[in-house]
Amino acid sequence: MESIQYGTQAIHFHLKRVERKTLGIEVHPDLSVWAIAPLDSKLNEIKEKMLKRSSWIIKQRNYFEQFLPRTPERQYVSGETHFYLGRRYILRIRKGQIDQVKLKGSDLIVFYSKDKSCHHIKNLLAAWYYSHAQSKFDKKINRALDLFKPYKIAKPEFEIRRMKNRWGSCTTKGKIILNPELIKAPGPCIEYVIIHEMCHLIHPNHGKEFYNLQNKLNPNWNRWKSKLESTLI
Ligand SMILES: [Zn+2]
Repeated sequence: MESIQYGTQAIHFHLKRVERKTLGIEVHPDLSVWAIAPLDSKLNEIKEKMLKRSSWIIKQRNYFEQFLPRTPERQYVSGETHFYLGRRYILRIRKGQIDQVKLKGSDLIVFYSKDKSCHHIKNLLAAWYYSHAQSKFDKKINRALDLFKPYKIAKPEFEIRRMKNRWGSCTTKGKIILNPELIKAPGPCIEYVIIHEMCHLIHPNHGKEFYNLQNKLNPNWNRWKSKLESTLI
């Protein structure tokens, strides 16, 4: 990884050398910056050109940044707001016989048996979210499978994996990866991501055919995409 300094901001970038005549600069949706340089170009010349495009790079990054998962820092103390399936809950921390998490009305109650440290509460809550994500995502994939009936696809394997910059992805082997944070978003937002990734089982890239299929199977996808990008979770 290389970097340039633009004012107070360091811009890190990946350098890829290929057979071409001019320098190409790309900013990807995961906020990574790529310099695609001719084989024989010198690093200082590349950096100089990157520097000239700095304000454009930052503008592109800001644009993509608004689409990334937004999760405010949490302290894991009573009274704090936490989300589950798009609903807001108030965290309550209570002493109990065993460690467990329960939803009651608008409360998300974490019972601890011994350890009441924030670290432990955080782990209990993460495990609870994870197991709910596991079963909800599975159910939603089964339901989405109905939509895909005419396309005769097998039920994809899925994995829950923390990703900093994405809600979901689909591997080349057809496995669907889902961000555990999604369980905090409203149901239709989760369905949007699942259907989107399942469309990739038929069309790997975001070409016209991909969007035609997504429009057909989930006509309101854009609404849920915007909702997902604009709500705090
Ligand atoms: Zn996609």
